[in-house]
Amino acid sequence: MRVSELFGKKTVFSFEVFPPKKDSPVEVIYDTLEELKNLSPDFISVTFSAGGSGNGHLACAVASKIKEYGITPVIHLPCINYSKAEIDSTLAEIDACGIENILALRGDINPDIPPKTDFRYASDLIKYLRTRGDYDIAAACYPEVHPEADSFVDDIRNLKIKVDSGAEHLITQLFFDNDSFYEFREKAAIAGINVPIEAGIMPVVNKKQIERMVTTCGASLPKKFVRIMQRYEHNPEALRDAGIAYAIDQIVDLATEGVDGIHLYTMNKPYVAKRISEAVSGIIGASYET
Ligand code: FAD
Repeated sequence: MRVSELFGKKTVFSFEVFPPKKDSPVEVIYDTLEELKNLSPDFISVTFSAGGSGNGHLACAVASKIKEYGITPVIHLPCINYSKAEIDSTLAEIDACGIENILALRGDINPDIPPKTDFRYASDLIKYLRTRGDYDIAAACYPEVHPEADSFVDDIRNLKIKVDSGAEHLITQLFFDNDSFYEFREKAAIAGINVPIEAGIMPVVNKKQIERMVTTCGASLPKKFVRIMQRYEHNPEALRDAGIAYAIDQIVDLATEGVDGIHLYTMNKPYVAKRISEAVSGIIGASYET
């Protein structure tokens, strides 16, 4: 199933998982997938390390397992640390697994790894993928602006290049303030970006996670969110429940505003994904008609 064909009929609901860390066997994620498959997401995407943790080699195995469960897999493919020959070899593996959906990414620049020169931006990879096969290509976008972009306007212009190069749908970086998403969506539409945009939602269920995510992705924190985190930071169960409730509240608002899809960053936690899926199933499944 080509993921871009899912949009327009319903609010797409998808999950993201990551392969086990380096040196862990791939099997450790199978229990997670076993539980996630019962939630019947429209697709599950698998992250791929741009270098560093080195778990990229497991992404195809995880995506194949997702396929075995009858769910459409999407494989992330970062390019900044790979040559054309290396991308070709990963594509050969992707083809052998029968995977047609790729989330094409530049990848974060790691100061310890000098970038390779074949691909500078995600749009370079997208153009290349177009010459290599009939892939359904998605790309990343940033409601609160990519940290390296000079301005919102530049970032939107660069996003338009990415879409014009062949990205058929977009998935956002996580955000906690829905208004930032609505503003971004409007600016993207004005710029002529008319592919579906899925909202990336990260349920924050422990303190370490929030600290890590906010320092690495720069998402702004609404007062309501900060109050919740401060109130429950020393009570893991309350923090988990509050994080789940916050994500549900975001999703209900986004669905009401006609979002094309919700991409849940599951952090490989099926319990959290299950509680959210159950809470929003009627809303996500609701018809567009008014
Ligand atoms: P690009 O689209 O290339 O943009 C990078 C920067 O360059 C931006 O500032 C942009 O404005 C600028 N730019 C783009 N095109 C041009 C141009 N033509 N001229 C001038 N400037 C330009 N990383 C991983 O390593 N593995 C993953 O699995 C992974 N999954 C992700 C999933 C999602 C949904 C998201 C949102 C991010 C993910 N990332 C992943 C992180 C991503 O790799 C980083 O955010 C990275 O810094 C940017 O990647 P990109 O594809 O958006 O880059």
